[in-house]
Amino acid sequence: MGVKQLQTLLSELDALLATCTRCGRCQSVCPVFSTTRMEGDVTRGKIALLEGLAHQMLTDAGGVKARLDTCLLCGTCEASCPSGVKVMDIFLKARTILTAYEGFSPLKRAVFRGSLSRPRLFSALLGIGVRLQSPFLKTASTFHGTSCSAVARPFLGGRHLVPLADRFLSSRFSNLNKKGKRGAPRVAVFPGCVVDKVYPKIGTDLLKILTHYQTGIILPGHPACCGIPALAAGDRKTFDQLVRYNLERFPADTFDVLVTPCATCTATLKNLWVSLADGFSADAQKQIRALSEKVMDISQFLVDYLNVGAPQNTAVNPLKVTWHDPCHLKKSLGVAVQPRKLIQAIPTLSLVEMAVPDTCCGSGGSFTLQQYDISKQIGLQKADQIVSTGAAVVSTGCPACMMQITDMLSQKGAKIAVKHVVELYADSL
Ligand code: SF4
Ligand code: SF4
Repeated sequence: MGVKQLQTLLSELDALLATCTRCGRCQSVCPVFSTTRMEGDVTRGKIALLEGLAHQMLTDAGGVKARLDTCLLCGTCEASCPSGVKVMDIFLKARTILTAYEGFSPLKRAVFRGSLSRPRLFSALLGIGVRLQSPFLKTASTFHGTSCSAVARPFLGGRHLVPLADRFLSSRFSNLNKKGKRGAPRVAVFPGCVVDKVYPKIGTDLLKILTHYQTGIILPGHPACCGIPALAAGDRKTFDQLVRYNLERFPADTFDVLVTPCATCTATLKNLWVSLADGFSADAQKQIRALSEKVMDISQFLVDYLNVGAPQNTAVNPLKVTWHDPCHLKKSLGVAVQPRKLIQAIPTLSLVEMAVPDTCCGSGGSFTLQQYDISKQIGLQKADQIVSTGAAVVSTGCPACMMQITDMLSQKGAKIAVKHVVELYADSL
């Protein structure tokens, strides 16, 4: 792609870019800006840079892309923008255009085109990773189950990692198709990569809850990514492949609801698939819309759809629990009340709110891999809030947030357990 084509493609975003009134409200909410204090790191600055590049006032496409990549894609700016600027739409489309202009690095090509886009190969490679990871990892915290790695320090920084699970969820349960009790919904389960490969207990707990309430359960084999890591990296081709693969695995007429325990997967399936559907055939667009209408976060499903009540097991230890709102759950989907209701339904748990439960944890998916210094500064502020509550457990609804919060608490030496709300509810059934 030449400069002219780059300018033409970016100019197609003009109508979206023009909705920004430069009011600067996004400055006051952006976690990255609050850390770097650079105008180019906040939405208003990024939009100005994109306009400059589209209209030949700037020529440094690499520099603009670097600023665009310095973003958690948390959606906080979009949720609080008084002009309704479609920030995620702009950023994701611009990343695709700029990545096409700059080209893929060999590493990105290998990760996305060579692996993530081929779900069976991706699972097999990570399965090999499970066997190879032990010699490279040293226990960081037995309480948190984290490890660090001197060998991988150049790539991983000083992270306290939650390692890959010994056994993936998909190797324990494959092609489940269970009938529920008469009149119960048929529930399709989309576990997401992190639950499948790092936190399979969340998946088994989710299945335990569905079994308890006797719903139908559909869990197809050979899971695939929802596509967001590829999209965030500007790889629209891999994103499209993963959407098509998942549409085949989850025909919308075979289930009543599709639940996920991952806030980011939920927001991607429900919002991004639809907003980016125009690149697909008419038939695929119809399938995308039909599927996305049935997508629900698991806590939303349990509270709003099943109206679940208080669990009966009062043998669970009394615990003080605080809740972290994942950005993609609260800001992208408006789900904040339901997980709190689930926690409050458990008689032995008491919910204590942290100062600002919906501040970003700093993970941002691949952002934490590329910009760990900023990610860690944001994450440590979140950890301070959690510690201040005096809670024994911090619960959330996104496995990526769990990894980030665990890393931060582990590095601080804070013995506060990190649990998905599904785990808390399942433990008390
Ligand atoms: S809050 Fe919205 S309108 Fe205001 S500067 Fe940021 S993106 Fe533009
Ligand atoms: S998506 Fe989040 S990190 Fe990115 S500009 Fe908006 S508020 Fe800042």
